[in-house]
Amino acid sequence: MKIDLEKERFELLKMYGNLLRKARPFLNDPDDIKQIKAAFLFATDAHQDMRRKSGEPFIYHPVAVATIATEEIGLGTTSIIAALLHDVVEDTDYTLEDIEERFGPKVALIVNGLTKISGAAQKGGSLQAENFRKMLLTIAEDVRVVLIKIADRLHNMRTLKSMPKDKQLKVKAETEYIYAPLAHRLGLYNIKSELEDLSLKYSDGVLYDEISRKLRESEEAREHFTNEFKTPLIETLDKQGYKYTIKSRTKSITSIANKMKKQQVPFEEVFDLFAVRIIFDCPREVEKSTCWHVYSIVTDFYTPNVSRLRDWISMPKANGYESLHTTVMGHNGHWVEVQIRSLRMDEIAEKGYAAHWKYKEQSGGDVNKEKGIEHWLNEVRSLMENDKVNAVEFLDDFRTSLFNKEVFVFTPNGDLKVFPQGATVLDFAFDIHTEVGAKCLGAKINGKLVPLSYQLNNGDQIEILTANQSKANEGWLKIVRTSRARAKIKSHLKEDRKRVASIGREIIDRKFKQLKIKYDDRIAQQLRDFFNLNSETDLYYQVGEGIIEHKEIKKFKDHLEHNNQVKKRKIVPDSAKEFKNKIKNIRQDDDELVIGEDMDNVHYSIANCCNPIQGDDIFGFITINNGIKIHRTNCPNSIAMMANYGYRIIKARWASEKESSFVSKISIEGTDRIGLVNDVTRIITSRLKVNIRSISIDTQDGIFKGTIEIAVKHLDEFEKVITEIKAIEGIIRVKRFDN
Ligand code: MN
Repeated sequence: MKIDLEKERFELLKMYGNLLRKARPFLNDPDDIKQIKAAFLFATDAHQDMRRKSGEPFIYHPVAVATIATEEIGLGTTSIIAALLHDVVEDTDYTLEDIEERFGPKVALIVNGLTKISGAAQKGGSLQAENFRKMLLTIAEDVRVVLIKIADRLHNMRTLKSMPKDKQLKVKAETEYIYAPLAHRLGLYNIKSELEDLSLKYSDGVLYDEISRKLRESEEAREHFTNEFKTPLIETLDKQGYKYTIKSRTKSITSIANKMKKQQVPFEEVFDLFAVRIIFDCPREVEKSTCWHVYSIVTDFYTPNVSRLRDWISMPKANGYESLHTTVMGHNGHWVEVQIRSLRMDEIAEKGYAAHWKYKEQSGGDVNKEKGIEHWLNEVRSLMENDKVNAVEFLDDFRTSLFNKEVFVFTPNGDLKVFPQGATVLDFAFDIHTEVGAKCLGAKINGKLVPLSYQLNNGDQIEILTANQSKANEGWLKIVRTSRARAKIKSHLKEDRKRVASIGREIIDRKFKQLKIKYDDRIAQQLRDFFNLNSETDLYYQVGEGIIEHKEIKKFKDHLEHNNQVKKRKIVPDSAKEFKNKIKNIRQDDDELVIGEDMDNVHYSIANCCNPIQGDDIFGFITINNGIKIHRTNCPNSIAMMANYGYRIIKARWASEKESSFVSKISIEGTDRIGLVNDVTRIITSRLKVNIRSISIDTQDGIFKGTIEIAVKHLDEFEKVITEIKAIEGIIRVKRFDN
């Protein structure tokens, strides 16, 4: 490719000029321009000679991101500077210190949040998730990091074409997974729609092209219709002296695609393709009443569908969105959505968080109105406090918070509180105070008694009932919905656990003194192994709580003595290979457990992780409390058991003939065809005469997946079932299923 440097320089200056023009409304200090210029020159120099995959100079990218940040998100000087510098630390030799020295700590903090962690992920972790976490952690400190990251992502999506296919798919997936929901949560509607549309373009290009082509083709007809629709409204609004604009807007390509898929209809049958928006200008005090006035003008001409009235002016959406929506019948017999809102509401709807802040500062913070985003940010902040969870788990929690719908409830004093849908009395109690939460027994809601697990409904007035002492327990973690309450319960339990564990530690010390064994680290380790516990705290806790009793510690002593005797012979296998050898040895040995013969005195049971059936190769594993468990030698857990507790393995085989039946599970997958499930069950029960214990099938998008639990006498019988199911038309996969 021929590079025309002169032309590129010209293009860059044009982009820069455009950035300054778009930024102008946000600059208050004459110094601002100077700083932006310094950042621009610094970035241009730092990225000198670097090019994007498309061949363009790299510096185009940060300038474009800064322009999006200010033009489409409404961010000011600090963000523009940070956006210009956002790839400097990641991609050049400059460090964060260099940035801080030149542009101050605030810019450095934001740039740091935008810089990826390099190197490999921690063991078992995911570098991708770690990077998300790093970025999201900064939300607590400065939301601008995430806003600039969204701008960055938007520009990357807009220019994704020049990337290789696999990179495209990865970027697209991340966008769908986190960035689009995040943009939505922060109220950036337009950006969210564009991100989704661009994702669709790379995941289903055919559908994307079809919809955008048909939208273009139908544009003229749509315009004609809207003009006709608007005419009487314009006349009346003018007559009554409103200052307003009317816009019409088509749905995003993604939402049309979703409609087509969900309702199984072609493009032509998606009716509510567009909405008409009436935006008026008026003082803040009369916004709400003006909305309703305009509503009444609209419904004077068009009949509304009352079930589709949406009042987000009395109760704004969780992301700060305010608007009054109604759907009315147009002259052509089609429903038309009409959105009524003030200029301020419109700016919040378009630019989300940043605009939201601007108005908050102006109004000194109207408590009721600010609840949405603020509340979510608090929720996110408390999620951040819990830094113990791994990155993947964190990301999952975070995503849940993005999709939460809200319920609005009241305290006995009439204070409004907002919770995610599904939140319970217990969430509410912990929101009031940790102590109130820990002692919560239930609540009185609208005068009626309800349990802890009661799910809050809009408008509930809640009075918490408490006990004298803490009632918190592990089970509560399943009852609460907010991460805030979950974190509080966890830390409460941790404290409690520590207290119980210290009692347990004293008990152990006493006991070992009685047993005349010196209690040291080595013994502590063996004791943990013996009871199969992960940490010393777990051990002391279980002793303190009485889960591990006196008698059992005695048993450990016997085990210790026995171990000392056999120590020299004992092999502790630690690899899969040794494990296999060990199993081989077991079969040659006489001293084995024969399942089904002379078993009266032996306490044993079938492991439900692998559900062995007569005929399978098996071994026994001595458990602490449940006698001997019989596992398959190819049980998914066997290697771990062998590697960690080789000394607890015993050999086992089936008695030659045993008349009993075994439960086993099969997983099946196939294309969903009418009568298929019927065929499966008929073959199992009628033809093979095997009992089905349970069956569960899930169907989605024409594919079904399911598990069947059957009772068989022998492996041969089981294998026959598998073979017969495999032969059924429509079945794609049949497998033995382990939990
Ligand atoms: Mn970038």
